[in-house]
Amino acid sequence: MDYFPLFAKLDDKRCLVVGGGAVAGRKVRALRNSGARVTVNAPDLNDELSALASAGDIEHYASTFDPELIHKHLLIIAATSDAKVNRAVAEAASQANRLCNVVDDGEISGFIMPSTIDRSPVIVAISSGGQSPVLTRILRQRLDEWLPTRLGPLAEWAGRWRTKVKARFQTPDTRLRFWERILNGPIAEQVLAGQSTDAEQAMKHELSIETSPVEQGEAWIVGAGPGDPELITRRGLKLLQRADVIVHDRLVADELLQLARRDADFICVGKQASGPSTPQADINAVLIDLVQRGKRVCRLKGGDPFIFGRGGEEIDALMKAGLPYEVVPGISAANGCAAGSRIPLTHRDISGAVTLVTGHRSAEHRDADWERLATYRHTLAIYMGAGQLEHICGQLIHFGRAPRTPAALIEHGTTRQQRVIGGTLENIANLAGAAEISSPTLLIVGEVVDRADKLHWLTSAVEVTSKRAAGDL
Ligand code: SAH
Repeated sequence: MDYFPLFAKLDDKRCLVVGGGAVAGRKVRALRNSGARVTVNAPDLNDELSALASAGDIEHYASTFDPELIHKHLLIIAATSDAKVNRAVAEAASQANRLCNVVDDGEISGFIMPSTIDRSPVIVAISSGGQSPVLTRILRQRLDEWLPTRLGPLAEWAGRWRTKVKARFQTPDTRLRFWERILNGPIAEQVLAGQSTDAEQAMKHELSIETSPVEQGEAWIVGAGPGDPELITRRGLKLLQRADVIVHDRLVADELLQLARRDADFICVGKQASGPSTPQADINAVLIDLVQRGKRVCRLKGGDPFIFGRGGEEIDALMKAGLPYEVVPGISAANGCAAGSRIPLTHRDISGAVTLVTGHRSAEHRDADWERLATYRHTLAIYMGAGQLEHICGQLIHFGRAPRTPAALIEHGTTRQQRVIGGTLENIANLAGAAEISSPTLLIVGEVVDRADKLHWLTSAVEVTSKRAAGDL
């Protein structure tokens, strides 16, 4: 950010405008609207400024620019038609450590004035840092159309209820939720429509409810999608932005986490590098504890929560504890990687089914039923198989799937680092080793891979995905 945006309280503060023409007049008007005490330094004044000076509404210092004046004023505006004088004002202000705006010269200005939409007490200020005044004007028009006309009265109305709401809801989190509920709901609509008596009644009722819904915690189990932060659902994003606490996996993109509230807390429960991941029972306990303490928790999980995501265990725990929750689906790695690598998981002429299966095996985890899976000739999307490629491919061949069956590995699918490696059941493990493939990786097995390969979709996919991730497409 090249500029620090702020709203200055100029009530009774002394401000200096150098120049006595029409432009200076506009600046004087703007300053006086904010309650500033304005001095105008110019040998002559135009009619508007002369009238103000005679009425005692501004102080007129009738001379060419006098640098001594700078020290007595908080803000300075140089608005003469002489560039040399304007520069001298800017220099004197800079030496005295005062903020100075030079009309039509952003380069030497210490501050610039934004374009504003005034729905006092609500003020929307827009600036393009002086780069494109037309863009600023277009934005201003669009926002002006979009903002309700009676936004000011709504803000004033909310201001009048603040003390009562504060007394009723003691914690900042519940107050925030209460206001979100009111300002996004029918009561705000009533105020905007000028139905103040109805709004008054409804507000009294809201404050008298013994246990308001805003005082209860809730968990939202949200699928973040496969990697590209744009692939979260609208519902998922809305809940992410509303949450008090985000409990997230390691694979969730940083760009997504940055969209959360600035005051939200983050708890990472994913595996850190090669370290251990948080045991599921501990994650469940964290969720329960937070919700019981009245927090709105977004449990943000890679892909879809219900596909190898242990979302089922989390809602089980929440349900047993009698706590409210919602599940928001996400685009799973199989869908994301298929789109990212241009491999259709099903195809009318080639494959009529797809099986999502985990390639993970461990002491507690039984190996997949490769014998049965090998007998199907359709597409397999194999999750968590990167460390087991030789075993998986060997098993499928052993149980009868042709060694030449096409296979593709998609590493970091849908992200800027996406890589697609095409091969067959016979050689994909070796190719992966040579390419030093790293996690997360999805293995797709089946004739659909060949189709993509023959049409050069695989190679183009890499290029297209990296361009898209870089924002070029
Ligand atoms: N719930 C997730 C899956 C979690 S299991 C989902 O629906 O996608 C984690 C496995 O998902 C990884 O081992 C990998 O096989 C796969 N995966 C997740 N993100 C991936 C990505 N961007 N590219 C390739 N595979 C991915």
